[in-house]
Order: sequence, then C-alpha cells, then structure tokens
Amino acid sequence: RLVSGPKFYHGGLKDQDRIFTNVYRDGDPYIQGALRRGDWHRTKDILSMGQDWIIDEIKKSGLRGRGGAGFPSGLKYSFMPKVNPDGRPSYLVINADESEPGTCKDREILRHDPHKLVEGALCVGFAMRARAAYIYCRGEFWVEANALQQAVDEAYKKGFLGKNACGSGYDFDVYVHSGAGAYICGEETGLIESLEGKPGKPRLKPPFPANAGLWGCPTTVTNVETVSVCPTILRRGGNWFASFGRPNNRGTKLFCISGHVNNPCTVEEEMSIPLKELIERHCGGVRGGWDNLKCIIPGGSSVPMLPKEICETVLMDFDALRDVRSGLGTAAVIVIDKSTDIIDAILRLSKFYKHESCGQCTPCREGTSWLVDLLERMKVGNADFAEIDQLEELTYQIEGHTICALGDAAAWPVQGLIRSYREEIEERIEDYHSKHPIKSRQLRSHPQS
Ligand code: SF4
Repeated sequence: RLVSGPKFYHGGLKDQDRIFTNVYRDGDPYIQGALRRGDWHRTKDILSMGQDWIIDEIKKSGLRGRGGAGFPSGLKYSFMPKVNPDGRPSYLVINADESEPGTCKDREILRHDPHKLVEGALCVGFAMRARAAYIYCRGEFWVEANALQQAVDEAYKKGFLGKNACGSGYDFDVYVHSGAGAYICGEETGLIESLEGKPGKPRLKPPFPANAGLWGCPTTVTNVETVSVCPTILRRGGNWFASFGRPNNRGTKLFCISGHVNNPCTVEEEMSIPLKELIERHCGGVRGGWDNLKCIIPGGSSVPMLPKEICETVLMDFDALRDVRSGLGTAAVIVIDKSTDIIDAILRLSKFYKHESCGQCTPCREGTSWLVDLLERMKVGNADFAEIDQLEELTYQIEGHTICALGDAAAWPVQGLIRSYREEIEERIEDYHSKHPIKSRQLRSHPQS
C-alpha cells in the first residue's frame, strides 16, 4: 500500500482504522462509552491465549515504544523473567509523566479514552507476568489522574481488575500515582525512584529495570500510548497493525501539532505520513501559508529542528527523521513560522532543560547553565564568532556523557540551531558589533567573560 521516499502517497487513516476514536468525538470516556467503543470486549479470551501469544502478536505488529526511544515493544516485554526463582514479583510501570514541551498525546488518552490504557495495562501486565501496574501521572495532570482513577474504579467494579481479573484466574491490580511536577521523573529510573518515595534522580544502568527496577523487582517502564494500543492490536491482530506505515515503522500513531498552524490538534494518523501532509490535512496549514514556514521541530523539544526545505518531503517516522538528523521522539510537531526569533526559541528550551536538570552529573548540571549563558548573549549578538564553535563543542561535551538522556535532549536542539541557522547567529553578532564597537573589542579580548 505504501512506498518509501519523497514519492510517498498517503491516503489518510480511515475512521475504521483509528484506535483512539474518542480522542476526537468527545463521547463518554467512562465505562458505558468504553464498552460501546469495544473496550473490554472478550478480554478474557485474549488472556486465555497465554503470555507467549500476546508477546508474539505485539512483536508481529512491529509496535515500537511511543514515548520517544522507539524500542521494539514486544522485545522489551520479552526481557521480563518468566519465573522469578527468588520469589520477587514483577511490575509494569506506565509512564504518564508527559512533560516534554509540545507533547500532549497521552493527556488526550487519559482524558478521553482511559479504559484503553487500563485494559492495556491488564493485557501487557499479564503478558509479562506482572503482579500489578503503577501508572505514574504527571503532577499537573489533576483532571487526567481523576479520569484515570475513575476508569480504574469502574474496572474493579466490573470485575475486570483485581482478583481473577476478567474471570481469567489471574490477579492483577492497577494503582494511579501522581508525581510532583518534575520533568526528570519521565526518565524511567527517575520515575522508579520517585515511585519509591525518593527524589526523582535517574539511576546508573546497569542494572536495568527488567532485572532490578521498582523496589528491586523486575520492572518494565512503558509509555501510555504504547500500552493503550495493545488491546486493539490483540483483537485485530498484529498483522493488521503492521499493515500501516513502512517496514520498521509500523502502525498508527498519535501526533500532536502545535505552534504556528491554523488549527493545532492531536490526531491519529498512519505512521510515515509526510510531515507536510500531516499539517495541511489536519491543521489547516501553516499560519500565513506554507511559504511563511521557518522550521519544524518534529518530535518534541528534545530533537533538532528541520529547516523548511526538509519539511517539504520528510516522512513522519523513526527512520526517515533519523536520516535527516532529527527524530520522531514523542511525535510532538512544533511548527515555527518566520516571525520567530529562532535563537530565542532555542534559548527558551535550554532554560527549560537547565531548570529540569536533577544536578547529578557535571556535564548536564554545568553544561546546561553554559548553554543558557552563551545563547543569552548570542540572542542579542553580544558574542564572538569563535563562541559559536565553542557552543557547538559544549553540546558534544554534554551529549553521551551523562547518566540519563536529559543531557542529550539539552544538547540536540542547540546542535540543530547551529547546523541550520549559523548564518543567522553570525548576522546577529555582526549587527551587534557594528552598533557597539568598543564593547565588542573588550569582548573579543576576554572571551567567556
Ligand atoms: Fe540528572 Fe542531567 Fe544527569 Fe540526567 S543527565 S541524571 S537530569 S544531571
């Protein structure tokens, strides 16, 4: 049905192939509406197929994690031990700490389709022989956490959760836990620390959570959307899900599009839809027309932006975006038009990462402060040309030298800025120096002042 490359023709996802139908229709998010939409339909039969069958179907579907990393989900679930000789229980932890700037897809599931997540927790938890699922909700998600808790309560009342869940003979509990507003708790080991009641500081790996996670027990941490699509995959078959998208980039996906478009929205589409088509089909195009586009951040604030020429043809999937030195991330598309001061925009992101750094590792703790200091001066042009290279070098000193990926996330947008808009930074510096010749000489003799 689909071909790769710029000549990709996309038909648009049909209604019958949407998983999150209630994200658009604003129907009843709770049990009556969920049952009408087919949630909890013969869940017992799914469980009766056994753990291995469920994991095989998820592997067959080609589902990759929807939280940003894109790791194959079936493979990840298969890492959990089949037997725990030391008697430790296994846990499923669901990451609903959605805090990445631009990202608002899991929020929509929690608000409008929470039963998909609760049913997914049972199916996935059963597949990995977990005793319980903990859903860690972002601290600011009061409405969402309440909606989710109501769905969990309803599922218990119906006998879908708890002892003998869905009449399957399997006992499974689901707990909703609210965080306290720290971005770093979205990192899986920071999240586990926080669930255990400690400050959310990421752990060094190994050991990996599948060996020693929550309370030292085997744990898998996975994203809300990833879990929520699993019941539909299991009902309709892994091959159905794999029929969307391109090889290695399968399925349907929630995209949240914000910024300078006429109608910002969260929409479910086929993986590998062209970026331009996604914006024109669902968002009414770029504000002021496509020609007014400056660049797009395609996957949440942690990936480099794409200049307009690349946005014309690139496909929205893991591989296509990696090939253009960006990433699908959380599929949060931030559209930036020509009215934007791009240096200031990236400075704003750097301030965010500086604020959210947990401070454990020096390259991240110190490096994010340096990024902000340098960008603040570059924003007004009060810098040396040589400092652009220093800024770039600084990002490489942060990238890959930290405990968790926040360091990389802080470095990549700045690398994208220098790669795509070096000339704009240079012009800003030239302009400043032409207006402030004395200061300029002082600055040149004291770089890094
Ligand atoms: Fe903390 Fe930053 Fe190190 Fe992550 S990279 S552990 S946020 S200091």
